[in-house]
Amino acid sequence: MKCGYTRFDMPPDLHALRADLLGWFDLHARELPWRVVNEHGLRDPYRVWISEVLLQQTQVARGLLYFERFLTAFPDVQALAAATTEAVLKAWEGCGYYARARNLHAAAQIVAQTGFPTSYDGWLALSGVGPYTAAAISSLAFGEARAVNDGNVRRVLARVYAEVQPGPAWVQTQADQLLDPQRPGDWNEAVMDLGATICTPKSPNCGACPVSGHCQAYQSGNPGAYPAPKVRPTVRQVQAVALLIGDAHSAYLEQRRGSLLGGLYGLPVEEVDGTVQLALGRLTKRLGAHSPKLLGTVTHQMTHRHLTLHVYAAHSELAPQDVSRRPLSRLDHKALALLSGPGQLFETA
Ligand code: SF4
Repeated sequence: MKCGYTRFDMPPDLHALRADLLGWFDLHARELPWRVVNEHGLRDPYRVWISEVLLQQTQVARGLLYFERFLTAFPDVQALAAATTEAVLKAWEGCGYYARARNLHAAAQIVAQTGFPTSYDGWLALSGVGPYTAAAISSLAFGEARAVNDGNVRRVLARVYAEVQPGPAWVQTQADQLLDPQRPGDWNEAVMDLGATICTPKSPNCGACPVSGHCQAYQSGNPGAYPAPKVRPTVRQVQAVALLIGDAHSAYLEQRRGSLLGGLYGLPVEEVDGTVQLALGRLTKRLGAHSPKLLGTVTHQMTHRHLTLHVYAAHSELAPQDVSRRPLSRLDHKALALLSGPGQLFETA
């Protein structure tokens, strides 16, 4: 216990807590397109799978748009398995974390042959499926008693137990203990919905909370103090130069390599190692380009990097491509958008 925090060691009444939270969930569950149930009260594994992979690190409102777009492109696992990697990346555009799309595609090719795994362990064996996703799919679509452990769950449980520093093992232990074995999928969604709509990070709405009678952080009088803020990892500042040869609709593109954006297309880039002018010189030489003019600067935040991209228009003999037919990262869309509005040409950073 840290100074300023109050810890109560009274265990919650599990039966009453479950009844209160599930009673609230039955009335207030968010209606989401991947929550459609069959006659057994279970979800469709394909829709749950796609939603769980898509919604990691994504707000639900934005995730809804991505989900509909992806399901329109690939309505079932056979369609996803038969698609090209490039088509999958195109449907994933803007979602970030493109390794997830590549893993999802590889796993779909296995599932299309073998059928959906029906257990937690079966899901966990697929590429790109970790403990959280395996627990979510096996509980929601197959009724297996597996507790999920994500940011919402961590926050809710830290508050119910007034735990200041809830580590992953602690959260999983409490989540396993609280899980309602009769309704594991509903229970998991109820905890996540509570965290997303009422027990929010900065201002928990305890007055509307169905489990306030069981909540030790609420009893402490300072629920927002739980859990203590995480120490954020250092973000590296990176600068790069990009060349736009062509225009916003038809430009010379290169296919990215590496785990981060591999498989996507984008403007040719050169990381700044020294000065912007030196990097620009290397890039124009490599592409046989001339007469570069600064279009503007865009910034992009990634998990551990903050990228500043200096975008130049230039001339070259290289053949442009139709950008609408290629999967591009959000960063490249931002760079191309520098050409879409008058008054932005030759804007300096
Ligand atoms: S009572 Fe408040 S702090 Fe406790 S779980 Fe509910 S919203 Fe969160």
